[in-house]
Amino acid sequence: MNRTPLVAGNWKMNGRKDLLAEMADALAGYAGAAEVVICPPFPYLAAARSAMPETIGVGGQNVSEREDGAFTGEVSAPMLAEMGCGYVIIGHSERRALYGETDAAIAGKFARAQAAGLTPILCVGETLQEREADSTVEVVCGQLQAVIDGVGIAAFARAVVAYEPVWAIGTGKTASPEQAQVVHACLRQSLAENDPDIAQSLQLLYGGSVKADNAALLFAQSDIDGGLIGGASLTADSFIAICQAAE
Ligand code: PEP
Repeated sequence: MNRTPLVAGNWKMNGRKDLLAEMADALAGYAGAAEVVICPPFPYLAAARSAMPETIGVGGQNVSEREDGAFTGEVSAPMLAEMGCGYVIIGHSERRALYGETDAAIAGKFARAQAAGLTPILCVGETLQEREADSTVEVVCGQLQAVIDGVGIAAFARAVVAYEPVWAIGTGKTASPEQAQVVHACLRQSLAENDPDIAQSLQLLYGGSVKADNAALLFAQSDIDGGLIGGASLTADSFIAICQAAE
């Protein structure tokens, strides 16, 4: 099946108004075939939606698993939707590791995102220790299955999954295209065991030190449908080059 490539930029806690302006200018000239999403920090979401061309998606980097209420510092899914977001990153490894997000909380966030009309970008990935212990597939498929069990496979008809090996995030160490493809194929197989049609249509992204010069080979793999980009999404030139590599 021909899946539309998708490239999403995760700014993390980086970027100011000047980056937004630079990126909006650069993306205004982008007419490629890839779907493009940028995920700036919460305070910039509304400005991003107004500045970006309509064809460019805007997403949050996190969302609360709760309904609106007395949860200081949290942001709900309907708030993201109202600010013009179409996507939200869920279960990034930094949030799992630094903020103790559990699979149950991540499934809750996924459900809230979908109920508000957002497309979740669910991140899964193994640590270096887990890779060295040969448990990569067990870990990443376990993280995926935990959310499938929580929300039901039908919910994945409108979702994106990003495989992000923790050891490759922000380290400059990229999984080789072959290493990444092996894991992507296992993730797609896991999805297929739940629903073959959804497995075929779902966009599976790779993330972890993707740069303009390694993107094309990664994206050429049959089960890699684009990328979730951290550091290289912080300059317009490298981000656009990666979007072009995904076409
Ligand atoms: C990320 O954090 O989602 C990511 C992929 O980061 P980087 O590209 O910087 O490794």
